[in-house]
Amino acid sequence: MSEFQSTASFEQIGEVLRRYQSFVLLSHVRPDGDAIGSQIALGFALQAAGKNVRLFNEDGLPESLAFLRGAERIEQPPAEPVVADVVIALDTATRPRLGEGCLHAVSKVKRWLNIDHHVSNPHYGELNLIDPSSPATGEIVYELIIALGLPLPEETRDALYVAVSTDTGSFQYPSTTAKTYDMAADLIRRGLDVGTLNSNTYDNHPLRRLELLRALLNTLELSADGMVAHWTLREATRRELVLCAEDSEGLIDVIRAIRGVQVAVFFEELPDGNSRVSMRSKDRRYDVCQVAAEFGGGGHSLAAGIRMHAVLDDVKARVLAAIQRRIDAAKGDVSHPSTPPSSNH
Ligand code: AMP
Ligand code: MN
Ligand code: MN
Repeated sequence: MSEFQSTASFEQIGEVLRRYQSFVLLSHVRPDGDAIGSQIALGFALQAAGKNVRLFNEDGLPESLAFLRGAERIEQPPAEPVVADVVIALDTATRPRLGEGCLHAVSKVKRWLNIDHHVSNPHYGELNLIDPSSPATGEIVYELIIALGLPLPEETRDALYVAVSTDTGSFQYPSTTAKTYDMAADLIRRGLDVGTLNSNTYDNHPLRRLELLRALLNTLELSADGMVAHWTLREATRRELVLCAEDSEGLIDVIRAIRGVQVAVFFEELPDGNSRVSMRSKDRRYDVCQVAAEFGGGGHSLAAGIRMHAVLDDVKARVLAAIQRRIDAAKGDVSHPSTPPSSNH
């Protein structure tokens, strides 16, 4: 993100929300809890304020999030462009990650808002509310709703909690702040049922997810120094276990949790012959967003992803080498603390 790109104020966003009547809310392909949760949360707040709202996602609603109230409002994009006043992209680091179908469906809508927390977001909206310090887009949506005095119906309340819970690894990652817990406390005071929501989010997996975990564990490899752990999902396994895209969501945390591991990587062969890489880091010195950026991907410094037009073995070799370069560079910094940073360039 360039320092010249300023983020919009809540008031500027509020002006657009008040002035216009019809809104299409979008989120990224292969949606996670923060993507769908942010759509439902802002969508129901706007609807309760009297607006017309549609919620599109390229890949539709994952079965794992179908328990959310209001989830039935998530639609796959219609084939023909829709008429609406404003598009709001949520939790989506780049415009192409909204998906071709969604981009076509909103191709006649002129006004674009972009609300996100990815540091790599290039500010592709007309107004951009981007806060990379926020642990989830859901937390930004919550702050916006409170700042503007928008309604906070039950659908919004539950969706905000699930958005933030899933993007913070259940309120654990370092991006979690007192503000995050204050939000959760406020939502609970508004009547949210913590036990049921968490149980629906975390204790309700299909058996095939565990079968996937078993298959992934069989591919687990560690680097010689034990700092990088990676595992691989091949297309044959996906077919054999009849997997859905969402089945692997969050599994990478299992290898991220190994003692000594600083970077965890999940390599995935996609049905179209392309590859997907998912990365997690425990330390900002090993910035996986920068690794992802080398290959056209993005995300956050501690969680990032790449989609590459290359076969998996090639992708693995190149990405692991890029990670190793960063780890070696960081080790170099530690062993030569007096070296001025400029000499590294
Ligand atoms: P994932 O590993 O898919 O859970 O993604 C980790 C983070 O990186 C999420 O915040 C994603 O939105 C982001 N991300 C994943 N893939 C990409 C990509 N190809 N381009 C930009 N951001 C990505
Ligand atoms: Mn997301
Ligand atoms: Mn997010």
